[in-house]
Amino acid sequence: MKKHNFYAGPSILPEFTIQKTAEAVINFAGTSLSVMEISHRSKEFIAVMDQAISLVKELLEVPQDYEVLFLQGGASSQFFMVPFNLLKSKAGYYNTGVWAANAIKEAKFFGEVVEVASSKDKNYNYIPKNVVIPSDIDYLHITSNNTIFGTQIYKDIDSPVPLVADMSSDIFSRPIDISKYTLIYAGAQKNLAPAGVTMVIVRKDALGKSGRPIPTMINYQTHIDAKSMFNTPPCLPVFAALQTLLWLKENGGIKAMEVKNIAKATLLYDEIDRNKMFTCPVPDPEDRSRMNVTFVMAAGYEALEKAFIEKAKALNILGIEGHRSVGGFRASIYNAMPIESVQVLVDAMKEFEAQN
Ligand SMILES: *Cc1c(COP(=O)(O)O)cnc(C)c1O
Repeated sequence: MKKHNFYAGPSILPEFTIQKTAEAVINFAGTSLSVMEISHRSKEFIAVMDQAISLVKELLEVPQDYEVLFLQGGASSQFFMVPFNLLKSKAGYYNTGVWAANAIKEAKFFGEVVEVASSKDKNYNYIPKNVVIPSDIDYLHITSNNTIFGTQIYKDIDSPVPLVADMSSDIFSRPIDISKYTLIYAGAQKNLAPAGVTMVIVRKDALGKSGRPIPTMINYQTHIDAKSMFNTPPCLPVFAALQTLLWLKENGGIKAMEVKNIAKATLLYDEIDRNKMFTCPVPDPEDRSRMNVTFVMAAGYEALEKAFIEKAKALNILGIEGHRSVGGFRASIYNAMPIESVQVLVDAMKEFEAQN
């Protein structure tokens, strides 16, 4: 029976990625060895790493003066790796959600942190507007998609200082002007691969200026010099990431993904706005995430929350429980989510309204 997988992370991957990775677990690149047991220095695996890096560059049109890295430690390790490498005295952060707040906490180990903008006053249900970015900060850090609260910054903002973005939950969902960023990072388990690998895109000339000694593994330069092979990389997640990148290319690339993502998000938000039983906690349509759609029971229907979760389960709709800090529901509709599954959820909402 087909399951409709709305989990926020780890989350849905293309069937192509799952199938190809399953095959490589048994017999990788015709070696009769598993991708889990072959040397990362074998020519077969080096080819995987090289191709994954070059496909990221191709799909995102990464300029020459940037490098693409595949690291470990999750996005959460980037919360300290970024300031370790880039923070001299003061950094600016958007505080737009739980992940942003976690990043702020880590940056404070390395220097002064100013909250350039915050949406904490309204439980993070909007993206701050008309932000004045100070010119005396070493970098500005934003979270482009707030996975838990369902808000997203779609536009590449113009920043007078180096811009750093946590794109863990919306990388590859829309074209990005990489040249506006100094560093982008993304844990793989939302839109790319199984957990265990984190992608970083970094402008090379931004490094080496922090004035502090940096442990080898924490230094981006180490991984640039070693082409992400300084130590044993997470071979299986990197292999899976390559399959997703191949799938993206085969399916029209990032622009085609964006078109599909807009169609899926529009379908679901239109139903939330139309259906009297549900409401979206993010009031401004401009701020609503195309990756993580949050919604709650409308006033007067709160008691029916569990009943809707049960109805969804009976229809093989999985993973729509909201994060505990928001409550209600969250439907994560990443790149690999087919619009047909979104339609199943929308039909369930319509039926639920008719039945109650
Ligand atoms: C999931 C997530 C993280 C945390 O990622 P880990 O790989 O678990 O450390 C950080 N930032 C955002 C935006 C996320 O969605």
